[in-house]
Amino acid sequence: MQDNSVFMPATRTAGLQRLRNFQSNMGLAYAKRRNQDRGPGNHSAVSQLSPYIRRRLVTETEVIAAALAAHGPENAEKFVQEVLWRGYFKGWLERRPQVWANYVTGLNRDLDTLKSDAALQSKIIAAEAGETGIDCFDAWAKELTSTGYLHNHARMWFASIWIFTLGLPWRLGSDFFFRHLLDGDPASNTCSWRWVAGLHTRGKPYEARAWNISRFTGGRFSPREEEFASDIIGLMDEEPEGLPEVQPLRSVIAPQPNVPTAVILTEEDCSITTSDLALLDTRAVARLHASHLRSPRAVYAGVIDFETEALADTAARAGLETETLTAIEPINLANWAEAAGARQIAMPYVPVGPLADWMAQAQPILEERGITVTEWRRDWDALIWPHATAGFFKVKKQMPEILSAAGLT
Ligand SMILES: Cc1cc2nc3c(=O)[nH]c(=O)nc-3n(C[C@H](O)[C@H](O)[C@H](O)COP(=O)(O)OP(=O)(O)OC[C@H]3O[C@@H](n4cnc5c(N)ncnc54)[C@H](O)[C@@H]3O)c2cc1C
Repeated sequence: MQDNSVFMPATRTAGLQRLRNFQSNMGLAYAKRRNQDRGPGNHSAVSQLSPYIRRRLVTETEVIAAALAAHGPENAEKFVQEVLWRGYFKGWLERRPQVWANYVTGLNRDLDTLKSDAALQSKIIAAEAGETGIDCFDAWAKELTSTGYLHNHARMWFASIWIFTLGLPWRLGSDFFFRHLLDGDPASNTCSWRWVAGLHTRGKPYEARAWNISRFTGGRFSPREEEFASDIIGLMDEEPEGLPEVQPLRSVIAPQPNVPTAVILTEEDCSITTSDLALLDTRAVARLHASHLRSPRAVYAGVIDFETEALADTAARAGLETETLTAIEPINLANWAEAAGARQIAMPYVPVGPLADWMAQAQPILEERGITVTEWRRDWDALIWPHATAGFFKVKKQMPEILSAAGLT
């Protein structure tokens, strides 16, 4: 049974309420308890704000400001750092778009293999249904498919067991997460799976250990050490030529005033407000539904519902009458914008991921019709992404400057 009710409704008001409820826990209590996975309904040591932050129903700066206000920079440091990890991964993938392109190609190849390999098929079915016989893994698979959420530590253990103990292709695991996570994000998800696999920090995979699982699940699970692969070295056969080179950040055209404009709302950034739209000559507004693009396989209904509600909430907050578009045929976007008389589309910045791939297909059609795609890129991203070229350490070192430039300290 699917029950993601703990995260609904997908509105800014609900996100802010969750933020207020968790604010007193963002300090030393978070630093001490955040690794504990007490199971569905008991994730009180962490904020569970990720589905809201991922869509900017609540922004990174808002949650950091709340943490700093309640606890000060020293005690809130751990929480603030975790939020920065999100910006780091987003920036990292932005600077290495080829990693995403390779993931997509590799996933399609893995899915083709899956069709013809009956043994692999039955292993994947068992893993996704939580029927492997490894208690903790099975419980996490069921929690994910029924709630759309997993604790960070469970994600790490699960991915490690998937790759190294069960020996399953990492991209199929990443895709399983991406199809089900309400906070599913192309950067955080892909980079985290790569990190567990020993691809992000090459040759340093994450090893799931029985004592660690037993300790941080408060004894809910008591696996035996022999159940899990040990002395792992990571997926050293992948990317023998190393990482693709770091690219400059993609240049962005900002929305221009006095140009007939079609505004697109997407779940990439639901923090659009009336002030973003103030100077625009807006002719039409649409909510673009795109979360089905996360995978060639079926995406969890809860993910689709969350996006639908989040976009409706964004439109309502900005007082906008909207139409609905679904990212299926790119030509439909061009037809809609052209029918509205638009010369530019204004939308939140589209980071590397499925929607950017779809927009790349729409781009030549829009160009042919004389319609320019313009984007709002947020200051927060512009502050972090220049530093996301190597390890997280580089971003962490810049933390005081980033927080100060964002007006948070
Ligand atoms: C294999 C794997 C896959 C993951 N896939 C995703 C994903 O698709 N989307 C996603 O948002 N996060 C992903 N994460 C990161 C992390 O697990 C989640 O952000 C976190 O568990 C969300 O729960 P929370 O809101 O209670 O976090 P909290 O601990 O309360 O943290 C507050 C916020 O900080 C950010 N954050 C915290 N930890 C991380 C982290 N390690 N990396 C990036 N951001 C972080 C999130 O926005 C989170 O909401 C993944 C981690 C792993 C190991």
